[in-house]
Amino acid sequence: MKKVYCNVTKCLGCRSCEIACAVEHSKGKTLFTAISETPLPVHRRKVQAVEEIIISDACHHCEDAPCITACMSGSMFKAEDGSTQHNEDKCVGCWMCVMVCPFGAISRRKNLAIKCDLCKDRTEGPVCVVSCPTKSLTVK
Ligand code: SF4
Ligand code: SF4
Repeated sequence: MKKVYCNVTKCLGCRSCEIACAVEHSKGKTLFTAISETPLPVHRRKVQAVEEIIISDACHHCEDAPCITACMSGSMFKAEDGSTQHNEDKCVGCWMCVMVCPFGAISRRKNLAIKCDLCKDRTEGPVCVVSCPTKSLTVK
């Protein structure tokens, strides 16, 4: 199962990965169109400071994913490649997944849970990896 790893010794906290993530998940897929969309696109990767360490983190695509067990509508599921994916059409906004995720990797937008999908529709792979100026992020 592939996932994105962050090398915390390289991360500057510039948030380029967050911006690239939001743009990739926008309708227009460009920064200039994304900033005027309603609703605004949401980034699934979050840059956080933990004491003196800066880390860019997102869904860990857990093997035995608590969010899938907790999801009563079947919205969270495992894809064939082992990634944890989210069917937005089934989401009822109960936030059980938000409560059980050990990494705080799920955001809320109105009644919809939002999480990293590993840029599943992007043939080149997760956009955060190529957007990072210090090459902190790797997918493996
Ligand atoms: S783009 Fe790279 S350096 Fe910038 S915050 Fe994200 S992981 Fe860190
Ligand atoms: S959303 Fe959270 S609980 Fe679900 S697979 Fe990702 S990291 Fe694991």
